[in-house]
Amino acid sequence: MEMENGTDSAEERWNFRQDEGEGELEKASAITVRGVLDMIMANLNLDDDRKPPVPLGHGDPSVFPCFRTSTVAEDAIVAALRSSNFNRYSPTNGVLSARRAVAEYLSHDLPHSLSSDDVYMTLGCVQAIEIILTALASPGANILLPRPGFPYYESRAACSNLEVRHFDLLPDQRWEVDLESVKAISDENTVAMVVINPGNPCGSVYTRQHLEKIAEMARKLRILVIADEVYERLTFGSTPFVPMGVFGTVVPVVTLGSVSKRWSAPGWRLGWIVIKKIIGCLNVSSDPVTFLQGALPDILHKTKEDYFSKIIDVLRETADICYDTIKEIPFLACPNKSEGSMFVMVKLNVSLLDDISDDLEFCLKLAKEESVVVLPGVAVGMKNWLRITFAVEPSVLEDGLGRIKAFCQRHAKTVP
Ligand SMILES: *Cc1c(COP(=O)(O)O)cnc(C)c1O
Repeated sequence: MEMENGTDSAEERWNFRQDEGEGELEKASAITVRGVLDMIMANLNLDDDRKPPVPLGHGDPSVFPCFRTSTVAEDAIVAALRSSNFNRYSPTNGVLSARRAVAEYLSHDLPHSLSSDDVYMTLGCVQAIEIILTALASPGANILLPRPGFPYYESRAACSNLEVRHFDLLPDQRWEVDLESVKAISDENTVAMVVINPGNPCGSVYTRQHLEKIAEMARKLRILVIADEVYERLTFGSTPFVPMGVFGTVVPVVTLGSVSKRWSAPGWRLGWIVIKKIIGCLNVSSDPVTFLQGALPDILHKTKEDYFSKIIDVLRETADICYDTIKEIPFLACPNKSEGSMFVMVKLNVSLLDDISDDLEFCLKLAKEESVVVLPGVAVGMKNWLRITFAVEPSVLEDGLGRIKAFCQRHAKTVP
C-alpha cells in the first residue's frame, strides 16, 4: 500500500513534484503524509542525546503509555484467537458477527438502524477509501475533496483516474466547508464529496446545523457524501460528534471508519464501509484478519467507558497546552483550538523568519536542529501552515513546543 512506502521512494516522489513547480502540488497525487514525514525524519539529528526526537507529525499515539489501547480489546483478540473459531478464510464482505457489531455500534447515534448487510469489513479506513473511490471512478467523473485534507484521497483518486477538485475549509469559520466553493466546482460529472469529521488536519468538529447544510447542498447537486468518520467520538470541545448518517434521508451517505483512532490501534488494520443497501452494494473481498473480526463485537461493545474518557481527558489537556503555547509564539498563529481528532493547523508567518522560505524548509530545519517533527501544511494542501499532532504524552508535547519556540526565536529576523 502506498502509505507504507519507505524513505527513498517518498523522497523521489516528493522531489518529482517539487520539480514540476507549485501548480502541480495542487494535484498532490504523489504526496502521502507518511512519505513527507519520512523525508523530514531523515533529517533528524540522532546524535544529540539532549534532544530526543519529538514526534508531532504522525497520527499514531499508540507508542505512548497514556494512549495504550483498552485491555478489554486486547483480551477480546486473545480470546478470539484461542477459540479457534476464526482460523478460516473470512467470508466475502466480512465475518457476519463483526458486520452486525458495526451496524449496532453505529446505529446508537442514528435515527434509523443499520443492518449487517449495510456493512463491509476492510483493512483499516484507508482500504475503505480505496474501495469506495475505485467503485466511483468512471471515465470523466470527478470527486470533490476538502482543502486542507487527507492526501490519501488524492493519491487513490489518481490511481483510479478519478478527477479531483478541491473545495476550501474556512479557517475563520471554524474550518467549516465553503459551500459556495462546493457549488462552484461541481458539475454534472461530479459523483461525490468527502467530509472528514472530526477533522484531520484541522481538529474541527462540525455542528449538526453545518452537517445539515452540507447534506442539503449535496442533495441539490445530486452527489453522494462520503463521510470519513475515522475520528468518530474523539471530541473534547463544546461541539458533540454528530454522524453524517443522521442526514441519510436527505442525501445518500457512505460512512467510513475503523478502530485505528478511537482504540489507538492503527496496526490492527480493522475498518469498515457502511453503505445502506438502498444506495448500492459492494463486492468486497479484502479479508481483514479473521480473528480480529471475530474480536470486534467485544471490542466495540465491551470496551469500558473509562478507557474512552481517559483518552479524551488527555487529548483535551494536550489540545489546550498546544493552543496556549502557540499563542505565545509570535511567528505562529492558531485560528481555532482543536475540538476533535488529534491535530491542529497552525499558520506560519515566514516573513518574520530569516533563512526560512516556506513551511517545508521550516520543518526540515526544525527536525535537524531541534529533533522535532511536524508536518508541513503543503502536504495537506495548505502552504505555509503546519499540522501539529498533540496526541502525545503531555510532557513530550511541552518539550517539543518549547523547542519550536526556541527555534523560531533563533531564526527571527533582526529588526534594524
Ligand atoms: C488515519 C486516517 C485514515 C486511515 O485510517 P486507518 O484505519 O488507519 O486506515 C483515514 N482517514 C483519515 C482522515 C485519517 O486521519
